[in-house]
Formats: sequence, C-alpha cells, structure tokens
Amino acid sequence: MSIQVSTSMRSNYCGQLNESDIGRRVKLAGWVAALREHGEHLAFIDLRDHTGIVQCVVDGLGDIHPEYVLSVAGVVRERPQGTENDDLPTGRVEVAVTELEVLSTADPLPMPIDRRSEVDEALRLKFRYLDLRKERMQANLRLRAKVNTALRRTMESHGFVEVETPLLWTPTPEGAREFAVPSRLQPGNFYVLPQSPQIAKQLLMVGGFDRYYQIARCLRDEDLRADRQFEFTQLDIEASFATQEEIHSVVSDAVLVATAEAVDLDVDYPIKISWTEAMDRYGTDKPDLRFDMPLVDLTSLFSSTTVNVLKEKETVKAICLPGGADWSRSRIDALVSRAVELGSKGLLWMKAVGSPEGMRLDSPVSKALSNSEMEGVIMLTKAQPGDLIAVIAGEYGSSCRILGQLRSELGKELFAPTGYRYVWVVDFPMFEGYDEEGNLVPAHHPFTMPNPEDLDKLDSDPLAVRSQSYDLVLNGWELGSGSIRIHRRDIQQRVFAALGISDQEAEARFGFLLQAFRYGAPPHGGFALGIDRFVAILAGEESIREVIAFPKTQSGADLMTGAPKPLSDRSLKELNISLLPPRKR
Ligand code: ASP
Repeated sequence: MSIQVSTSMRSNYCGQLNESDIGRRVKLAGWVAALREHGEHLAFIDLRDHTGIVQCVVDGLGDIHPEYVLSVAGVVRERPQGTENDDLPTGRVEVAVTELEVLSTADPLPMPIDRRSEVDEALRLKFRYLDLRKERMQANLRLRAKVNTALRRTMESHGFVEVETPLLWTPTPEGAREFAVPSRLQPGNFYVLPQSPQIAKQLLMVGGFDRYYQIARCLRDEDLRADRQFEFTQLDIEASFATQEEIHSVVSDAVLVATAEAVDLDVDYPIKISWTEAMDRYGTDKPDLRFDMPLVDLTSLFSSTTVNVLKEKETVKAICLPGGADWSRSRIDALVSRAVELGSKGLLWMKAVGSPEGMRLDSPVSKALSNSEMEGVIMLTKAQPGDLIAVIAGEYGSSCRILGQLRSELGKELFAPTGYRYVWVVDFPMFEGYDEEGNLVPAHHPFTMPNPEDLDKLDSDPLAVRSQSYDLVLNGWELGSGSIRIHRRDIQQRVFAALGISDQEAEARFGFLLQAFRYGAPPHGGFALGIDRFVAILAGEESIREVIAFPKTQSGADLMTGAPKPLSDRSLKELNISLLPPRKR
C-alpha cells in the first residue's frame, strides 16, 4: 500500500479509492488509460496513476485521448448494480466528475502499455519512460527501493555507516576490464571507474571507519554475456575487528529482513557448506538447495568393475532422478545428449524397477553389473522403484561439474522448487588455476587473506591454499562474495608475488595501499551483495533488466539515448584525444 500523498492538485490516488470513500469529493491527477463513450451524454475515462486505475464518469469526451494527463475533481459514488468490476480493486466505485482539466496532451503511443500486450524488448528500451508506466515496472522498481531501504536500515541497526567512495578512481586488480575517463586538465592521463569500492573501503578501515557500507555503483567493461550490465549496484560492506562468522551474521540479517519485507515471507537462516563439499555433493559452488538430489560417489564401488564404461575411472558419480524410470526412450536419449553437450563422454542410465524388496536395475549394462554393484548402487543412491539413476564417469572435476549442471537443470523440472534458500559457501581455494602466462589467477581477488594454516603452501603448493573467502548463494545464484582481507604488508607482497605482480608493479599500481598498511591497519573483512540479481529473484524476474530503470542491451547500447556516441571534434580536442581509424570488432 503506498502512502497517501495529497497536494493541491490531488487529494487521493486513483487506485486507492474504495467504498469507504463513497460520498467524498476527491481531486485526482493521472493518465488516461482507456476511454469509452456510451451515447451522447455519458462517457467513461479510466484514470491511472502508479497505484492503479479508477473509472471516472463524464458527460462527454470532447478532445480527450489515451495517455493525456488530466486533473479531475468529483464525488466518489457506488457503481450502479450490475456494472461493478471485481477484477479491479476500485471496481465497486466510480468518480462522478464535475471539473476536468487537460494538463498535458499525448501523441498516439509507439507501443501499448497495458498489462496484456507483449512488446518487443528493443521497443520497450527505446521508450523506457513509457514502459515504466506499466504495472510490472512500477512494481519492480518500487520493490527495489523497498529492498534498498531494508538493507540500509539493517546495516544502520548493526552500527554500519554509509560512506561514499569516488567514481573517478585508479585501476585496481580485481580482474575485470575497467572503463577509463580521460583527464582534461592532465592530458594523456586517465581516471578509471571503480569495478568496486574494494580498495577504498579497505582504506576506510585504516581510516578508522570500522563498520562501513554503501549502496555502490560498480562499473566493469566486460563482454555482456549472459545477464550482465556494465554498471550494477552492490550493497558493499567492510568491517574491522570482525570474524567471517560475524560478517555472515550481519549480511544474513540484512538479506532476511529484505526478503521478509519484499515478499512477506520469513525464510530460514542460511546454511553453510564448504566449497569442497559444495563441489563434491552438488557439482557447483552455487547450489540450489531448495531440493537435495545430491551427487553420490560410486567410485570405490566400481573400483574393480567389468563394466567397460566405468572401468578405471578417476570418478564415478550418480544422481537419482525420482520417477525417471518411466521416462520415454527419447527423453532418456535427450538426457544423454545433454551430458555429451556438457562435455561428458556419455551417460550411463539405470532404471530402478521391481518392488521395494526385490528391486533391480535395468540398464544397457545390466549384464555386466555384479550383484554387489547393483545392491551398492541402490543403497548409495537410495533409489526407489521407479527412479532413474544417471551415472557419469571420468575425471573428478569435470564429472562433478557435468552432473552438477544436470542436477540443477533436472531439479528445476522435477521439483519445480519455490521459496528462498540461502547458502553460505565458505573456504574457497585461494587460486583458480593459471593464466596463459603461467601466473596464478585469484579465485576471489588479490586482497583475500589465505587460510593461516595454508600460508606455508603459498610457494610450494599454491593450488592447495584455501582462502578466507565466502559466497552467499540464493536458489542457485551467486548473490555476492567477500573475504577476510590481508592487512599485513608482508603477506600482501607474497600474494602479489604469487600472482606474478612484481614489487615494482605493485608499488606503481597500489603503492598507496601498501603504504597505508604501514601505519596501523586493523584486521578487516567484508562482502558485496549484488542488488540487481537479488531484486530480480525477489521480483520473480528472469532478467536483471526488468529491475533496472534504464538498462543497456546485451551489446551495451542505450536504445533510448543512443549512447555510446561519438564525441564532437571540439570535445576531443579539449581532451587532447585523436582517434585511430575504427577497429573491426
Ligand atoms: N569487492 C568484491 C566484489 O566486488 C567484494 C568484496 O570482496 O567485498 O566482488
């Protein structure tokens, strides 16, 4: 329910009038949503504002057209019997208009904005200001504001202070390509737009702001694969003198409060699992735990098997699909093809058939399966008659990943999960692997503190080093990540060295940070929550563009303003920039 805001031009919102207003004189302002003429001296105007529409009765339409902006005054009355509209919250009343003023006229719209019409997204983005008049966009952006308010309020209640950090910043090594801004006053020099306030917030810790937060805009010049935007919003936080668990507890509180207010649901406190367990049991670091359906390890069961496709494999893993034994041949074939598409050599299926006491497995390899293998599969997968067991064999990492992807796709199909399940995934590895130049790639970012127990492996066995970083996952989406940071100059230098960043380079790029660490840096850690995705999930939207007022397309274009556009020769000159011939993309 929105707050009633009365001004000299409006006593009430259209969508909020009801039977309790009957007999009252009201003044409304809004857009003409629809018009109907009934004979010579009777006409109806559906007047709309962001709260909804109400039927206004006038004695003629004159020169009024859809989307004109009107001010009307009149008396609320009960609709004549038989003309009520129960689909409309205001459907039992109407306003008998005595005064009407056209505040603004409107050309015919380039696209319909009613609830029912599907409009091409390119057209919606070109005329975003019209698209925003729609119920869906009104609801989504208001939900977003509500979520932001709940997040802010919770952070404040935990003693966090909002501090704004600069947009004109300097390059930082967080992995994303950065947007550059030419300096007019120092020709040839550039600012960089922050990919996150990471370093700034760490410096705030050195500066004694021991609990910081910000609803921060971040900018990354990355190819917009999937559902990404160049600019996005994070709830960015950092705290000094706090453990991982204490940071998790604040963030958990913030997301639970926001969820409760946004969707009116109290949901469970996040569960916590280690990265290793998440990968092993669900084949992903962002498991959707609204359903279980775990990956079951069958490797030792098949250690001396005669089944060819399972022989001498590093890993044999399975998931058990409830009811899958009844699937048609083509559906099972599609499952096998999907596994191959995901990079598997194949997929072995086994149908659990028979009665609970006399269950057996029906499979293309039935003949080669020993009795103990059959019993072992049934026991370990907890299969029931009627289930289908999908088995993948091969290298450990890829088998987990492929089966994890199948688990996530089939889980959605089989369980149609609803609700919200938050999960903290902790103890990520420090490094993801090596890049083409043979340098280690950080799994989170270079400011992440290694697990103290693994510090001595930093040089000898870096891939085995665990970090103190963590992700918050919701329904299979990574909502955000964070870590305990390195606050000691010596450890930071060792990590830079492991990443192939030389002392000179580190000095040139982040000398200011390393210097700050000389003057009493408190232990600290933090987190950043992606607000666009969070709101999209709460709004039940697939795409984050549906919860952003003015998003760009997948190719980074703003269809409304035409940006990005060429700069005038004069502006280029002022910036001391001359352009190379256009590069082929
Ligand atoms: N700066 C990190 C990010 O934007 C989050 C964090 O570590 O706080 O992903």
